[in-house]
Amino acid sequence: MKLIFLGPPGAGKGTIASKICENLGIPHISTGDLFRKAIKNQTELGKKVQQIIESGDLVPDALTVALVKERLNNPDVEKGYILDGFPRTIGQADSLSEFSSIDAVINFTITDDQVIKRLAGRRLCKNCGAGYHVDTVKPKEEGICDKCGGELIIRPDDAPEAIKNRLAVYYESTEPLIDYYRQKGILNDVDGSPEVAAVVKDTETTISAI
Ligand SMILES: [Zn+2]
Repeated sequence: MKLIFLGPPGAGKGTIASKICENLGIPHISTGDLFRKAIKNQTELGKKVQQIIESGDLVPDALTVALVKERLNNPDVEKGYILDGFPRTIGQADSLSEFSSIDAVINFTITDDQVIKRLAGRRLCKNCGAGYHVDTVKPKEEGICDKCGGELIIRPDDAPEAIKNRLAVYYESTEPLIDYYRQKGILNDVDGSPEVAAVVKDTETTISAI
């Protein structure tokens, strides 16, 4: 089963994708991971990505597409995969259709208010990187990591202004993909607002009906 997970930042795509990939025994392909791995291994594409990211620019579509294409040549994708964070634009989706045929797209729906509540409440240990949330994953002592006693901070990405920017980018570039895939008849909506376990269950029910 070749799947794409779509949805705004904070919809939980990554968490849900990793759980479902584990259950189905298929790889979870996230562009964030592909970028990090290519940079770490200093491949030709990795060196280019590193240079672009370090100069503060967005990785161009052609480079992202090349990395995904390279990843999909790996024999472990034979039984299928979940693409998480790709495609992010109509242009990327058109390119993807030239080298892969997607079976279904899962679109996780969630309101802006829920996204803001989720992302703005996230906290990260400055020392060990453990994740917390002011509503759902509270540390024993406010502002202090349970595991190492480190200070809990807000990632720059999760500051209110940054969240608004991320949502604006999503609506401009990625949301048009919902109609794009709906017109192809392969889009399935799943309510992304309940807790993770419930969303995973709904997603698996949806996938098994495809
Ligand atoms: Zn810690």
